[in-house]
Amino acid sequence: MTPVQTLAPSTTIPFFNYPHLFTAEEEELVAIFRDVGRRGAFILQQDLERFERNLASYLDARHVLGVANATDGLIIALRAAGVDSGEVIFSSHTMVATASAIHFAGATPVPVDCGPDHLIDPAAVEAAITPRTRAILPTQLNGRTADMDTLGKIAAKHGLVIIEDAAQALGSRFDGRCAGTFGAAAAISFFPAKLLGCLGDGGCVITQDDGVYDRMLQLHDHGRRADGEIISWGLNSRLDNLQAAILDYRLDAYPAAIQRRRDLASLYDARLGELEELKLPPAPNADPRHFDVYQNYEIEAQRRDALREHLKAHGIGTLIQWGGKAVHQWPALGFGQQLRFTAALFERLLLLPMNLTLSDSEAHQVCDVIEDFYRG
Ligand SMILES: *Cc1c(COP(=O)(O)O)cnc(C)c1O
Repeated sequence: MTPVQTLAPSTTIPFFNYPHLFTAEEEELVAIFRDVGRRGAFILQQDLERFERNLASYLDARHVLGVANATDGLIIALRAAGVDSGEVIFSSHTMVATASAIHFAGATPVPVDCGPDHLIDPAAVEAAITPRTRAILPTQLNGRTADMDTLGKIAAKHGLVIIEDAAQALGSRFDGRCAGTFGAAAAISFFPAKLLGCLGDGGCVITQDDGVYDRMLQLHDHGRRADGEIISWGLNSRLDNLQAAILDYRLDAYPAAIQRRRDLASLYDARLGELEELKLPPAPNADPRHFDVYQNYEIEAQRRDALREHLKAHGIGTLIQWGGKAVHQWPALGFGQQLRFTAALFERLLLLPMNLTLSDSEAHQVCDVIEDFYRG
């Protein structure tokens, strides 16, 4: 392959820079740690309550409750919404966590195809409905919210519950409403590499329903009511107060973080839109119904594996989501479904670097190397 003269071969653009999550604001984070530590405020304290309030107001949601991670959050959301048996339909292009949450809630996960936008395909959902179906669990993938209008109509028609996996979609909107506020309940992740990351595991659940909220409160804290009375079986799945303090601090800068991600998406779109070997995600202003926050920039690429090697040889990190397989493709999980669209898609999917450390010039460099691969 011809070397690219204009590129410095030693440059390294990691797919995600984990140390940066700490070093970029080390002083502020250490100050938060010191403050929380000196107060001994570790579990279910005011910093967590403040963060839950501020996040609810940001999302325009009635209730937000911190939990240990989004996977627990989905289990808690499903059980609180009464989905503990029957079948739950989800898109196989998601993290295994979506399906395992359904499994551990007590129901059977039923994988279906996604559509060309990589989100759950409403037609595939309808086709998978049986008398045992209890819920639809759309994943708001890559920072984009599914067509909740169409999914809502399907759910209403068949009497199904909607639970959203909004792990990747904090602040993403469809028709002006935030991901996580459409269904009976939803979960968002604060895993470090997610849109709003903490320094460990963390997540929250969201609901507009007071009854669901009460059950989620109990489920996440040993089945306890506020007065200490145990009124149901429960888990221990609380968001650490220290992580909540960090998240609350970071929430202030979150709108600017989204803008930066959308700017990077525009840059990629302008630079790569002409290459017919690629299919890009929708551009930031492509559809007024969707406000995407670009947790990921997921392209479809011809000769994907060779492109990935070429980028790697130029010091550029990429990722194929979920270890390269859709959920139903892991033999150990015992799914029998054949999902042809999803299977073909997984031959082409690739994530380009999309994070707050990436500079414009680095994003241009990524584009230079991709152009060189297809045109060089
Ligand atoms: C990250 C992720 C999860 C799991 O989140 P955790 O907080 O790590 O449990 C679930 N679903 C999707 C789509 C995710 O990206």
